[in-house]
Amino acid sequence: TVPLLQLDGLAKKFPVRDALGRSKGAVHAVDGVSLAVGQGEVLAIVGESGCGKSTLGRLMLNLITPDSGTVRFAGDDLATLSPKALRAKRRDMQLIFQDPFASLDPRMTVEQAVAEPLRLHRIVPRSQERARVAELLARVGLRPELARRWPHEFSGGQRQRVAIARALASEPKLIIGDEPVSALDVSVQAQVVNLLSDLIRDLGLTFVLISHDLGVVRHIADRVAVMYLGRIVEQGPAEDVLTAPKHPYTRALLAAVPGHGAKAPPIEGDVPSPIAPPPGCRFHTRCPFAEDICRTTVPELTARPHAVACHLDGRLPPTAPGPDRLAG
Ligand code: SF4
Ligand code: MG
Repeated sequence: TVPLLQLDGLAKKFPVRDALGRSKGAVHAVDGVSLAVGQGEVLAIVGESGCGKSTLGRLMLNLITPDSGTVRFAGDDLATLSPKALRAKRRDMQLIFQDPFASLDPRMTVEQAVAEPLRLHRIVPRSQERARVAELLARVGLRPELARRWPHEFSGGQRQRVAIARALASEPKLIIGDEPVSALDVSVQAQVVNLLSDLIRDLGLTFVLISHDLGVVRHIADRVAVMYLGRIVEQGPAEDVLTAPKHPYTRALLAAVPGHGAKAPPIEGDVPSPIAPPPGCRFHTRCPFAEDICRTTVPELTARPHAVACHLDGRLPPTAPGPDRLAG
């Protein structure tokens, strides 16, 4: 069967200018990403801030145009669709942003905010709008009487529930959540994660979770793709990637999660500038296992279900190397 979403060789650069408008090169935000997301699957894209994961999410939804590569949704190449066909597809693909304060219009009541996509995509006749809004609010755990309220009267968690109801209104097949709980109080995060995971299961949604939070990822992902400086360095079943990581970067990310048992040195150094990424393996400036080949030759992502882009191909030394072997 055709995957719901298929990315092939996607690349996107953004020009960078200094304060005087002089070109300073380009950030290769996404650099050759291929991925498939099956119907009903939850794929998490993880990595540090600046790794390109948000850009990748926007490319998936055709909110920005790739420099090269293709995005296929249910088999259709989005770049070849007419504007009309693309608008119809929009109904099937929704985005939930990190910041529920920014994503809701302060001049719209909750009812208006949730009804807008119903009207735009002609989901129900006007006479049934109010009832459908009440249903959608119930589905995200909000009482129907809240429909008349304004976003400023709501907590962050409630606002994110409204944003989720709004995303569900068009009856999408695919939802992309870009750090959907990271702006919320820690006490509220788990509730919203549980809500998302119930909705994914009950509605058979396909969900792409963009997150730096491996706790959230562990809770809902079926598959995990790890990004570093615009490239996927590891991907596979969530269980395998999160318990037996093959890439030194993934291992370091997991080691940074409190309470996680992985034995690895904490990740050393800063992410290199994406304007001038290191040659060879982009992780070599921070990798405790780097060898000469890593500085010159790009490791390709293997074709196995649990894939890795590393010259060691998962054969990592079992324990952390001594400080004399740390890169730098
Ligand atoms: Fe480290 Fe080399 Fe593997 Fe890159 S290819 S992650 S530098 S061992
Ligand atoms: Mg981001």
